[in-house]
Amino acid sequence: EGRRLATLANAPTRTRDGVDIRLFANAEMPADIAMARARGADGVGLYRTEFLFLRQKGLPTEDEQFIAYRDLVLGMGGLPVTIRTLDLGADKADAAGLVVRGEDNPALGVRGVRLSLRYPAVFSTQIRAILRAACYGPVRVLVPMVTQPDELIAVRTLFKLARQELKRENIDLPEKLQLGAMIEVPAAAINVRALLEHSDFLAIGTNDLAQYVLAADRGNDALENIYNPLQPALLRLLAYVISEGRRAKKGVSLCGEIGGDVNFTGLLLALGLCEFSMHPSQLLHVRDRLATLDHATLRAHAPRILRSRTHEEAEALLASITG
Ligand code: PEP
Ligand code: MG
Repeated sequence: EGRRLATLANAPTRTRDGVDIRLFANAEMPADIAMARARGADGVGLYRTEFLFLRQKGLPTEDEQFIAYRDLVLGMGGLPVTIRTLDLGADKADAAGLVVRGEDNPALGVRGVRLSLRYPAVFSTQIRAILRAACYGPVRVLVPMVTQPDELIAVRTLFKLARQELKRENIDLPEKLQLGAMIEVPAAAINVRALLEHSDFLAIGTNDLAQYVLAADRGNDALENIYNPLQPALLRLLAYVISEGRRAKKGVSLCGEIGGDVNFTGLLLALGLCEFSMHPSQLLHVRDRLATLDHATLRAHAPRILRSRTHEEAEALLASITG
C-alpha cells in the first residue's frame, strides 16, 4: 500500500472523470516543506507563522522572520506559498506578552488579525519580513480571523506603508502580493461578498468555522456529537462561500483538518471545492481518493446533501453516494 501510494508522488491530481484539482500543503517546519515537495504539492496553502513567536522568549526580529519566510519560499522552488499572518490569542500560549490577558472568552477575544492590528509595530515587522521574502518567489498573504472588511483595509494600508518604508531604505520590493481572507468566523462567511471586494483569494478554516458556527470548542471531546463537519448548517455555509468565491472568479481553498481527511474528499468536491490544503502527510491519500471520485456525479448530488436535516443524515447520504 505504501509503495502504491509512493507512485502517486509525481502523478497529476485528477478526479476519475478528469477534473484537475489543486493540492496544497499546510506547513510550519522545514520537514513539512521537504515532505510537501516530495509528495508533489502544488504549493503551500497555509504557512502558520505562530511557531516563530512561540518557540522563544521575546518577539522574533524582522531578520529572523525574513530568513524563515525566505527559506520557505526557496524551499518550494518557485511554487506559490501562502504565508498566514500571526494568529495568536486564545488557545495559543502567550508570546512575549502580546496576548490580551483576563479575557472571559479568549476564543471570542483579541486573536488573529484583531491582535495584529492592536500591535501595529509588531505586525509591521512581520509585514516587512514577508515583503522582503517575497522577492525570492511567489508569495500570497493570508489574514486569519477576519470578521469585517475594515480589517482587510487596515492590513492593506499597513502593507502600503511598509512598502514605502522599504523603498526609502533602498530595499528590494516584490511585485504586488495577493491578499486573502481566511473564512473562519460565521459573519465572514455570511457576508463573504463584502470581503471578496477586498480579497484576492479566500481560504476556509473549517476548524474554527465549525467551532464558531456550532458554538462548540474545537478541542472539547465532550462535544463530539455537536462538533461534526457534516452538520447541515456548516455544509450550507461552506457551499455558499465556495460558490460566491467562484462567482467572483477568485480562488477558494480549504485548509482545515477535513481538507486532508479522505472521508470528506467526496463531500468537498460535491460542494464545488477545487483547492485543498492539508498536512503534507495526507497529500498522497487525498490524491489517491480523488482518482476514484466522479466530480460530475458528486456535483449533481450537492442539492440533496445540502437538504440534510442532521449530520447523521448527511453522513448516510454521502456514504450511499461515494460508497
Ligand atoms: C482553521 O481554523 O481551520 C485553520 C486552518 O486554522 P488553525 O487550525 O490554525 O486555527
Ligand atoms: Mg483557524
